[in-house]
Amino acid sequence: MKDILIVGAGVGGLSTALRLVKRGYTVTILEKNAQAGGRMNQLKQDGFTFDTGPSFFSMSYEFEELAADCGLKLPFEYVGLDPLYTVHFRDSEKTWHLHRDLTKLAAQFQEVEPDFEAHMRRYLKKSGALFNDTVDLIIKQNFNSVAAFVYAMLHVNPRHLPVIFRSFWQQVNRYFTSKEAREIISLVAFFLGKTPFDTMAVYTLLSHTEFQHDGYYNVKGGMYAIIEGFVKQLEQSGVRFVYNTEIVDYRSTGHQLTALVDQHGQSWTADDYVINADAAFFRHRIFKRKAFSAARMAKKDWTMGFFTFYIGVQGKLPQVNHHNYYLGNDYQGYADKVMRASESLEKPYYYVNVVSKYNEELAPAGCESLFFVCPVPNLLVKPHWDDKDQLVDSILADFSRRIGEDLNARILTRVIYTPEDWQNGFNLYKGAGLGLSHTFWQIGGFRPKNYDETFRNVFYVGASTVPGAGIPMAVISSRLVVERLEKKG
Ligand SMILES: Cc1cc2nc3c(=O)[nH]c(=O)nc-3n(C[C@H](O)[C@H](O)[C@H](O)COP(=O)(O)OP(=O)(O)OC[C@H]3O[C@@H](n4cnc5c(N)ncnc54)[C@H](O)[C@@H]3O)c2cc1C
Repeated sequence: MKDILIVGAGVGGLSTALRLVKRGYTVTILEKNAQAGGRMNQLKQDGFTFDTGPSFFSMSYEFEELAADCGLKLPFEYVGLDPLYTVHFRDSEKTWHLHRDLTKLAAQFQEVEPDFEAHMRRYLKKSGALFNDTVDLIIKQNFNSVAAFVYAMLHVNPRHLPVIFRSFWQQVNRYFTSKEAREIISLVAFFLGKTPFDTMAVYTLLSHTEFQHDGYYNVKGGMYAIIEGFVKQLEQSGVRFVYNTEIVDYRSTGHQLTALVDQHGQSWTADDYVINADAAFFRHRIFKRKAFSAARMAKKDWTMGFFTFYIGVQGKLPQVNHHNYYLGNDYQGYADKVMRASESLEKPYYYVNVVSKYNEELAPAGCESLFFVCPVPNLLVKPHWDDKDQLVDSILADFSRRIGEDLNARILTRVIYTPEDWQNGFNLYKGAGLGLSHTFWQIGGFRPKNYDETFRNVFYVGASTVPGAGIPMAVISSRLVVERLEKKG
């Protein structure tokens, strides 16, 4: 059976490896970092454990499909979230609980939008139709050409045509009247790495996945338990992991890649190669393709950066929920700055995850592990982050005020990742947290393909190839790439 080399041990690479070993391939995984996980990673410091990237996932059935495909029981346990998360507006005492039960959800909007439940049901009917009419036809498919993709698009129910020309924000505005409902319901657009103002309305299908379809899930022991479970399973199946090994060059003959070369000059050979490193960045930096030249890379549409920091605090925070959004009072102004401003952000919007809330073992007794994510400009827009400590201080001051407790004196450990760290740690172009964005010209047949343009034995998996960003998409991506490999034979 064939030897396959996978470059990158992110969730996309690991899911691909699971499917391949089940099919009898011999698999080796090379990873630049000292441990697996990619963006879904883990940090341990001073007795505290933090998930560094994802804090929940949707479409749990994609993991179940992966397990069934590999004849396995999933090596981790997941738990549905209700509420999905909480939202807090600056200068308001109120906590909004995002329940999946629409009547419970609507009760909180009584004062600002009395017809919220009817509005939400109408909005979700449309989001559900968008989801059902596109997911199998467009998202879960391999396309062999742009023409095949366009042909598939023509089969999407024509009643959805107008949403291609609207933004997420415009779509939400058609259904909701209050500022609160509009901002809360459109928050999910940030999960795609852009803002509601520059995300296509078709992605309101995400509201269906949140509220009606399958919801969100946490993992017992933290998100990194997914990676640990997969790595253990793969090691037991004989997969070889080689860490601290970064691919920097290649050798080829005609249309065949013959070797990948690491930073020490060592060559790695296989029959076929699957690249889990960013599909655009690898073509740019390693294969030096014209279509991915420096100038063309800069012209592509990239997602925002993520400024993340991890703090361990003395004492418990019962008043803070598991997943929380802290918003300011100029939603559009902030969204605009996140994509365009080169200066420091004032009054940032941010997300806080208390991973130790339901996983006590992730913090020392009587302490809490907190993870903050602040959407910020990527390095194309704001290249310097020497103001990182001020940004953390301003967020912590704001957070302390909002929760009514000064955290500063109780911090036992603190780690900061700027977009530069995300760039350097995982080879993410300009620190764009989710890679290429999902504009019309960068999805489906227009996204970097999951097979190479030149080498017939090179394939790609993960967030910047099809179908796109997020954990379930990486799992779908592994199914699509294995389909390609199998077809090639
Ligand atoms: C802060 C943050 C929060 C997020 N939150 C969520 C969330 O809550 N839910 C969700 O579904 N998604 C979330 N995401 C998105 C999610 O993390 C990603 O979409 C997903 O993990 C991408 O997986 P991947 O396998 O495609 O790529 P990656 O995880 O980036 O893996 C690629 C791997 O390749 C390695 N690599 C790169 N170049 C080389 C090279 N030259 N040689 C060797 N190895 C190389 C990298 O080190 C990395 O390990 C979040 C992302 C971030 C950054």
